Amino acid sequence: MPLQLDMMEPAETTQRASGHTPLMRQYFRIKERHPGAILLFRMGDFYETFDTDAVKVSQLLGITLTRRSNGKAADVPLAGFPHHALDTYLPRLVRAGERVAICEQLEDPSKTKKIVKRDVIEVVTPGVSFRDQLLEPNQSNYLASVCWSRRKDRNDVGFAFVDISTGEFGVTEVPAEQLSEMIESISPSEILVEKSFSASVEMVRNTEALVTTVDDWVLSFDYAYEVLVEHFGTHSLKGFGVDDLELGIRAAGAALHYLGETQKGAVPHIRHLSRYSSQDYMLLDPQTRRNLELVASMYGPGSEGSLIGILDRTQTPMGARLLRKWILRPLTDVSHITERLDAVDALYEREKVRSGLHIELASVGDLERLAVRASTGRASPRELSEVARALARIPAVTSLLNDVNNDAIAEICGSLDPCSDLVEHIAEVLAEDLPASAADGGVIRVGHNAELDELREMARSSKEWLARLQAREATRTGITSLKIGFNRVFGYYLEITNTHKDKVPDDYIRKQTLVNAERYITPELKEYEERILTAEERTLALETELFSQLRSHVAGHTEVLQRNAQLLARLDCLFSLAEVARQNQYAKPEIDDSLALDICEGRHPVVEQLLPLGEPFIPNDTFADPGTEQILVITGPNMAGKSVALRQVGLIVLMAQVGSFVPAKSAKIGVVDRIFTRVGASDNLAAGESTFLVEMNETANILNNATRRSLILLDEVGRGTSTFDGLSIAWALVEYLHEHEHVAARTLFATHYHELNELADKLDRVRNYRVQVKEHDGKVIFLRKLVAGGADHSYGIEVARMAGLPAELIRRARSILQTLESQHLRPGTKVELGGTDAVDSRDQDEDPRSESDRRSTEIADEVRSVDLDRMTPVEALMKLADLRDRARQS
Ligand code: ATP
Repeated sequence: MPLQLDMMEPAETTQRASGHTPLMRQYFRIKERHPGAILLFRMGDFYETFDTDAVKVSQLLGITLTRRSNGKAADVPLAGFPHHALDTYLPRLVRAGERVAICEQLEDPSKTKKIVKRDVIEVVTPGVSFRDQLLEPNQSNYLASVCWSRRKDRNDVGFAFVDISTGEFGVTEVPAEQLSEMIESISPSEILVEKSFSASVEMVRNTEALVTTVDDWVLSFDYAYEVLVEHFGTHSLKGFGVDDLELGIRAAGAALHYLGETQKGAVPHIRHLSRYSSQDYMLLDPQTRRNLELVASMYGPGSEGSLIGILDRTQTPMGARLLRKWILRPLTDVSHITERLDAVDALYEREKVRSGLHIELASVGDLERLAVRASTGRASPRELSEVARALARIPAVTSLLNDVNNDAIAEICGSLDPCSDLVEHIAEVLAEDLPASAADGGVIRVGHNAELDELREMARSSKEWLARLQAREATRTGITSLKIGFNRVFGYYLEITNTHKDKVPDDYIRKQTLVNAERYITPELKEYEERILTAEERTLALETELFSQLRSHVAGHTEVLQRNAQLLARLDCLFSLAEVARQNQYAKPEIDDSLALDICEGRHPVVEQLLPLGEPFIPNDTFADPGTEQILVITGPNMAGKSVALRQVGLIVLMAQVGSFVPAKSAKIGVVDRIFTRVGASDNLAAGESTFLVEMNETANILNNATRRSLILLDEVGRGTSTFDGLSIAWALVEYLHEHEHVAARTLFATHYHELNELADKLDRVRNYRVQVKEHDGKVIFLRKLVAGGADHSYGIEVARMAGLPAELIRRARSILQTLESQHLRPGTKVELGGTDAVDSRDQDEDPRSESDRRSTEIADEVRSVDLDRMTPVEALMKLADLRDRARQS
């Protein structure tokens, strides 16, 4: 490879006094301007990396590391790949969390004797990319920027996020403790933070995003403000309604600065900065998002088994992206929710409109990202024609919706702009059958440009002329197999096979000898070749020019295209929700400002779809209200359906606030500000946290942040520790939620601790429910029905039997259980199991209900440990008095 490079650019191998070749000096100069990025240095047909970059790249991509002789300096490590492999290798580098600067040759190497001019044209990072290979069609790709206040009297954070592939740009300020939820709800691929504020790096370290530090001055208010107003061409930011967000503006300015750096200033499609108000959305912490399996199931990647997998019937990628945002950021404003629900309802009623929309939306494609590609000069001929195709669907869409009686839909219809002139213009300019790239030619329609038509005619007639020449020469020479051919090195030639060598006329000039044939040229052929090639070159140049004019013309419509894309995305989401509601028999929920929750015959939207054929999903009712029935303690055997019952309530509430109909006969939902979940055992061992610690962290989070308007779903709190520690914590937790008004939220608590059922007698607003089972022939039949009252039995051993544990083990477990149940266990006593084993019941000394038991235990332990041999009679007497006094108190 190095040999090839030297051949292409001989001047670059000349050594200079510094020890570096001029080429390497150019490389290092450019590299210096992009610290922290891998520099892909274009050399002819290759992208090369040098030095430490080469070592890294060879490891990440598994390509060979070689060396390039670099003048007097030591050999420089080198690793490279052919330029056409960029689409394969670049995503791999970026997905590995690298920033990659692409340095191109800015002039044709054959036209210069000096070092070819080169510069970085684009820096691709996880959060900043236009490339399809790095973007998920159904997901936004955000760069976020965070700005902390260093003032002691401020505890909030500026937060901005931008998706360069769509032009979305938002800004907000949130209390510092809500930053992680904010980050989670946006899921950025990259986060910018201030370099010298090391705490800031720490605070975002837990995310999966790449953390990039920027110089402090980039986040200074004056600079950030200036960057923003200059970009938008405005005097102030008042028009965007964000003028008062000092920290937000600093974050947003830094994000725009970073885009400018990476994209060399070319982000004309970012036209708005919207104020994002976190109060308008339900906050979902990472564990709730995971536990409710909103966008991914717990059992693997992809949307299968998740809520979005059920709700997403969108027909456009921008619709799918928007639906994802809706699901991750449910609304909290009753009127906004009702507006969405009414629009879904209007479509729900109209089967024909939905099937029409299905067809029309399916041919719209990704207008949002296409508009951006046109705006940034990246769109290919086919992509521009897709823009026209998408726009051409708008009249059909609006006529379908014309008589749908709903304000929100009427507003969408009224705001969609079919851009008929633009569609017509694109159709006039572009040919029918388009090549993948403008460089291939054949992009412009015949009849659009007279000069181009003439040039094409010239090329065509020249080809005819060549055919005539071939026939004429064949007759003249008597060589019927004489052929005219073309190659890049010799241009047009006449080829004669060796059999006819002796018939070659004198005026033929030999140019090339092959095994079986010779190739010749004639002055006449060369003269014509010149005309043909000039015409072809000019044709391509003219086509390229006409195409970029068209692209600029489309770019001039960026704003209206983006608006259309957003409206179509919104319509697509409403369509999708209506379609799913119809197919899955969902009901329209009623949302109000109360604190009640009343679900009649609710179902779990995902589980009901996944049950084996013929197995019905059993619906359940749920009623909760902080004023009356605040805490529902749900007991029941293993496998009965407690977790499902719990999660379905969370999902129904969330779906309703997204604007979706819900899997229930009816549902009345007093709007919820946050859903908290503490579900199952998950551990974060990598972060040095045990199962129990994670459980307690999550519980603490709930107690610190819940309000009366929240919904709390607790599944098995306290399981990660000894039975009595766990029971004590669970018990105290219910009491706390009941007794402290500020956290007295609607709570569903599924548990195996039957002891918690006693709380219903002690606390007003605690109710017991159990998931019903039936015993038949000594076997358990799951009825899955939630009924009032507590359960007293876990059937754990029965479930273990169903899971296939050996019969001998099951028999032994049953006998141990019987013994344990029949004996009144006392702490520290050995329980006789009538067999080979004994169970030490020592951990019972933690029973929360029996403080006196605990004291008795201590006393008994002390009596047992008294060493009479080492005591004087007086000491023994004093010990006895002490024990007697303590026993009296207990
Ligand atoms: P454990 O205490 O062992 O965690 P659980 O009581 O929480 O068990 P779930 O996980 O909720 O049990 O339910 C077990 C299985 O029962 C589910 O995977 C589902 O297939 C089925 N199931 C649960 N609820 C219903 C229902 N209402 N209708 C039909 N099937 C259900």
